[in-house]
Amino acid sequence: MNEAFMTFDAIVVGGGPAGLTAAIALAETGAKTALLARRAPYSDNRTTALLGASVDLLERLDVWRRCLDGAAPLKVMRLVDDTGRLIRAPEVRFTSEEIGLDQFGYNVDNRTLVAALEARAAELAALTRVDDEATTVVPEDNVVAIVTRRDKTLSGRLVIGSDGRQSLCREAAGIEVRRRDLNQAALTFNIGHSRPHRNISTEFHTPHGPCVFVPLPGDRCSVVWVTAPNEAERLMALSDQELSEAIEKQSHSILGRTTVEPGRHKFPLAIERPVQIAKNRIAFVGESAHVVPPIGAQGLNMGLRDAADLTDIVRDALSLGEDPGSPQVLHRYASARRSDVATRTFAIDLANRSLLSNFLPVQTVRAAGLHLIGAIGPLRRLAMREGLAPSWRANPSAHQEDQLGGSRR
Ligand SMILES: Cc1cc2nc3c(=O)[nH]c(=O)nc-3n(C[C@H](O)[C@H](O)[C@H](O)COP(=O)(O)OP(=O)(O)OC[C@H]3O[C@@H](n4cnc5c(N)ncnc54)[C@H](O)[C@@H]3O)c2cc1C
Repeated sequence: MNEAFMTFDAIVVGGGPAGLTAAIALAETGAKTALLARRAPYSDNRTTALLGASVDLLERLDVWRRCLDGAAPLKVMRLVDDTGRLIRAPEVRFTSEEIGLDQFGYNVDNRTLVAALEARAAELAALTRVDDEATTVVPEDNVVAIVTRRDKTLSGRLVIGSDGRQSLCREAAGIEVRRRDLNQAALTFNIGHSRPHRNISTEFHTPHGPCVFVPLPGDRCSVVWVTAPNEAERLMALSDQELSEAIEKQSHSILGRTTVEPGRHKFPLAIERPVQIAKNRIAFVGESAHVVPPIGAQGLNMGLRDAADLTDIVRDALSLGEDPGSPQVLHRYASARRSDVATRTFAIDLANRSLLSNFLPVQTVRAAGLHLIGAIGPLRRLAMREGLAPSWRANPSAHQEDQLGGSRR
């Protein structure tokens, strides 16, 4: 087949974890799908705490078994107020056993996750891989036309923009983005330690942001240390020995002696809310659709829910003979994702602001809120379940039936 002029039901642009997942899930429905993404090794050392439904999705897509060697179960999550302020919250412990689960999910390094997704994508006959990048994306009446850096032309009835924060697809769709820089940066690196983590993830809340220790297989943890940008610069410049001492001090030595592993990265933090999640035959998944700071491990978990919901909606549309890029289908996707993305972005922003606030009443409300969650079983269990996935999450297929029913009435 001449790759120069190919037409697809769906073209996924961008091969990060959200795009790869969407491409696999769509191809598995039988939709004629292309993945337009450079085949490059994953380049940073981030890990992802994948919660409940995300692991279920990766299992269904035959990806999860390939991640197991690099994944550690997360059984307990501890929140520790390390602000040193006059009014401090009590320690809160969330235990998966309390809501009848063996674990909340797993922490897996992104390199392992992306390699597993790539391996699965390569097995699917319905998925055409185009190892290239989009340079022009033009929504037309019946298709979106894409030209690649190597001058190939593709067209798709639906395009999935999974091209991250500086999304070309989002620009092409004409979607405005509300962005707020947080004046915080996250430093990520991994450590070895002398005491076992016992599958407990510990989040120290400092006045500049959380510092989180998330279990990895063996006596290792990944660290996400959120702090002021110039402090992050200073930490980046430390030697391994100096950073090992700094992180052991920040952890209050709960993991014993800590040794920093080679490799560290820094991420400036921001909140990004595109005004729409789908427009002009283009639907967005992952960070092109929402960017949140790494609090409560929500970012990619939301991105995987985007991919899952979009797949359900496209599968149903194709089975009814509908155009997958039509305004009606995009509207169903936007309706399915609206509440999840809006409420999580709001909650994460609020949690972050309340941590950074020097205003005593805000500190008091925050401490009281955490005290109530820690002390009242049903509230704590509700918080745990909502943290895993929104209980009220619409079933996109049911939603579609409503919509169809509505239009027939
Ligand atoms: C410090 C930190 C810790 C985090 N921890 C967690 C966690 O524990 N749990 C969690 O759920 N989330 C977490 N997140 C969020 C998570 O990392 C992101 O949500 C996720 O990596 C975003 O994936 P993505 O596929 O949307 O975007 P990306 O990974 O940015 O992928 C976008 C891809 O598109 C490609 N691309 C761009 N333009 C084009 C083009 N024109 N043509 C073709 N390809 C293109 C890029 O090269 C890239 O490969 C964390 C984030 C940070 C910063």
